[in-house]
Amino acid sequence: LNGIVAVDGPSGTGKSTAARGLAHALGAAYLDTGAMYRAVTLAVLRAGAPLDDAAELTRVARDAHLVMRTDPDSPGVSLDGADVRGEIREQEVTKAVSAVSAVPEVRELLVRRQRALIDTATRPSGGIVVEGRDVGTVVVPEAGLKVYLTASADARAHRRTAQDAAEGRPADRDLVHADVRRRDTLDSNRSVAPLRMAEDAVSLDTTELSLEQVLRRLHELAAA
Ligand code: C5P
Repeated sequence: LNGIVAVDGPSGTGKSTAARGLAHALGAAYLDTGAMYRAVTLAVLRAGAPLDDAAELTRVARDAHLVMRTDPDSPGVSLDGADVRGEIREQEVTKAVSAVSAVPEVRELLVRRQRALIDTATRPSGGIVVEGRDVGTVVVPEAGLKVYLTASADARAHRRTAQDAAEGRPADRDLVHADVRRRDTLDSNRSVAPLRMAEDAVSLDTTELSLEQVLRRLHELAAA
């Protein structure tokens, strides 16, 4: 292992919890790249920028002051000096994030920042677990371990509903289901960095697995 673990996959596969748990167990840093796309999306909404204006979205992304905290025990994201951990999970952000993340210039910008964060965390000999959609394919194809998590659409919608409720955002299960499907389609069919499994990734179907089981499997893979 070169210290970099990439965990990719669609929403609701248990990716965040598993990646964070693995980072904690390994004594490594943790980076949630989705939180970066979400934070830029929040900046876009605050600026009132039209979602179909790529130049404007790029400008907002460039001006947004994002700070990521990579401690798995208290990961965080701040935008223009304020903690936005809660806000970036709100429905308005979730609805708009696929449009923002489909803009090539926005991705270029964020990928550059992600690589810098990974660089800092691994130098001289640290480790980092990075989760997202394109981590193993685009951000760090050189990652020592790449895992691609999947789960049935039903299981994913179910987990997302439970997670929303646990975090105080009770949502209708059918709406969550529709949102999961919608984002899957958008994220998988966009022209830049579409969601797909890297050729050298290990795929893990988490439909029937508990979080503990997913974590144990990741740990085995990281130790192999
Ligand atoms: O992982 P999360 O659901 O928070 O990601 C939110 C959105 O950010 C995804 O639906 C996707 O559009 C975008 N994303 C991305 N590339 C990543 C991580 C997230 O395009 N590496």
